[in-house]
Order: sequence, then structure tokens, then C-alpha cells
Amino acid sequence: MKLSQRALGISPSPTLAIDSKAKQMKANGIKVISFGVGEPDFDTPENIKEAGIEAIKAGETRYTPAGGTLKLKQAIVDKFLGENGLEYQTNQIAVSVGAKHSLYNAFQVLCEPGDEVILPAPYWVSYIEQIKLSGAQAVIVQARQDNDFKLTPQELEQAITPRTRVLLLNSPSNPTGSVYTREELAALGEVILKHQITVISDEIYEKLLYDGMGHVSIASISPELKESTIIVNGVSKAYAMTGWRIGYVAAPAPVAKAISDLQSHSTSNPTSIAQAASVAALNGPQDAVYAMVEEFEKRRNYMLERVSALPGITCPKPNGAFYLYPNVSAYFGKSYQGKLVNNATDLANLWLEEVQVAAVPGIAFGCDDNIRLSYATSMENIKEGLDRIEKFLAELQ
Ligand code: PLP
Repeated sequence: MKLSQRALGISPSPTLAIDSKAKQMKANGIKVISFGVGEPDFDTPENIKEAGIEAIKAGETRYTPAGGTLKLKQAIVDKFLGENGLEYQTNQIAVSVGAKHSLYNAFQVLCEPGDEVILPAPYWVSYIEQIKLSGAQAVIVQARQDNDFKLTPQELEQAITPRTRVLLLNSPSNPTGSVYTREELAALGEVILKHQITVISDEIYEKLLYDGMGHVSIASISPELKESTIIVNGVSKAYAMTGWRIGYVAAPAPVAKAISDLQSHSTSNPTSIAQAASVAALNGPQDAVYAMVEEFEKRRNYMLERVSALPGITCPKPNGAFYLYPNVSAYFGKSYQGKLVNNATDLANLWLEEVQVAAVPGIAFGCDDNIRLSYATSMENIKEGLDRIEKFLAELQ
């Protein structure tokens, strides 16, 4: 059967090959330590699960408005006001099936064929495919490791053309864990306003911040930037709710309406029960989030110390999310028992085959000098995995 050009244009995830190999090894009873994980290893807090169960019992099992229930939209509005100092109305919110879906919808309603979307690299892998699916073209700007992988106003200015429509920002970042400060966002904001481009600001890791850092949304810098920004967020990472599939946007009302209308012809509403649970997540006690952040920070500190001590490896200190993105290029050209390491993908493959540690090679995020290590796994696993990597690297010649 003939497939559409659209379908043929989608690249399979470059992380899939290593991931399926790791799964196969695990199925064969081999103890693989996985640093490849993209979700919190904690359980959804009890009060949120209870709210989901209560919703089922109360019969909240029917269609809701396509863009989300008023109750959830109000909880989201309250969250933005209380946590981000941003005033939105419920008609400026659209709830979707995870932040990934919110991003997909945002590109669909904003971009035309021929438009350009500026995408700072390293970038999360789905952006590039979603941009392609909207008909637009991704313009990748490599952010420098010595600037903590953050885009500078000069780099942004240089990438802008008359066709630029959108800048994608992701802070805290997957895969680098970098976090933009208010000053850095304000400086980017000047360029954004000068050229009248729209920002899609993916803030899904907002609550996973360390070293006492607070989250700053670019929309909160000025009323003009708020008008130019679509904030994407959700409950997946903050509340360990990846399987519930609830994400949302806050945007100018016509954009939120366009997203709801688009969604009304594709998925319809996100699951009613998950929406009810998300109200509990946003309105309820936040202790579980604080406890999770405390544990993540301990792991980050331990992992960063160990990884930075590995000879030849450099790793900027990530202030957020749950990833480290060390540069491993010092090992290129070396070999392990006769097997040559040309790039980070070779190294990640060898880690899996030789010492059973799974990690995602940087090529998946647009930079093959690095490997992404997730610390969304137990301290015990982190110690064991790093012991294995340390031993492996010592044997490279
Ligand atoms: N944005 C980034 C940067 C992510 O890393 C992820 C998930 O890995 C998402 C969005 C999607 O989150 P959700 O599970 O809400 O779709």
C-alpha cells in the first residue's frame, strides 16, 4: 500500500535501536542498567490516583469539552497566576493528550509550508518531526557547550530570516538540563519582539529545578512577550503522571481556540478521568513534588561528581530536569578490545553490549559528541551503572 509523503518523511526515533536492544537483553534475563529513561521513576502520588478513582465512581466518564473541562482550565489558570505571576482567562487554555500533543497542535495551528522554526540544538527529538509534519522547516542553531548549551541573542539574531515564524525554547531542557535565567530570557525577548516572531516555550520540566533556582517563563518578562508566547506544560514530569497523558497550552485566545477546534476533529477531549486527576495534582498538596525534587537533586549531585571525575569527560552542571549531557568526544578514535569508537553512538552501543549500560547517544538530540544520561533511576542503579562505565573507559585504548 502506498504511503503519503507526510508519513514517509517521518524519521524513526534514533533512540529506538538501542532501546529495543536493551529491552531484548532484559527479556533474556541480563541485568541492564538503564540511564535512558525519560520519565520519573516515582509513582503517581496517592491523592491524585484517588481523584482518578473518584471520578470513575462519580460517573465522570463521558465526553468533556474538546479543549478540556472548565474545572481543569480554572486549575491551570490558578497555577499560572500563583506560580508564574501570569494572568490568563480560561479561554486562553487548551488541554491536550500530553505536552507532546500540545506541541504538535501548536505547530499545526501556527505554521505554514515555507515557514521556518528556529530550533536550538541540542533539542528534544520530537520537535523536529513535529515541525516537519506542520509543513515548516526546522532551522537548527547549535548552542555552545561553553554557554551551557543555551542560545545567545546574537545566535538567534543571525538565524532569523523573513520566513522565521517560531522560536522553540525549552527550559529546563531535555537533554541538557540547562535552565535560562530571567536576564537571558529578557535578552532573547528583545530579539523576538524586534522581529515579531512567536515563541513556543516548552516548560514541562518547570518544577524539576535544583540549586535553589526558580522557574522563569519568558511570557512573564513583559506583556508584549506574553502576547507572543505559547506556553506548553503538563502534569507528566512534575507529578509522575506520564501515563495519564495530560498537557496544556496557555496562549492568546485565538490560538487556544484553534487548538481546541483542531483537536475536536482528531482526539476530541483528553481522557475525562485523567483530567479530574490533574485537577487534584494542580490544586492539591505539593509535598510529593518537593520530595521528588529533593531526591533528584541528590542523584544529580552524585552523578555529576562521578561523571566529571572521569578522565577526558566534560559536563556542564545541569540545574534542572533529570539528565546529564556529558561530552565524550575525548574517547573518539580509541578502541575497546579491537572495536573502534568513532562517535557517541558507537560508545553507547559498546556500553550496552560490553557492560550492559543503556544510554541515549547525543545524535538523537542533534549533537553526537555527547551522551544523555538520565538519573530517573535509583541511587543503587546509578552507582552500579557508573562503576561499569568507569571500568569500561579505563580499558579503552
Ligand atoms: N517536552 C519535552 C522536552 C519532553 O522531554 C517531553 C517528554 O519526554 C515532553 C515534552 C512530552 O511530555 P508529555 O508526556 O506530557 O507528552
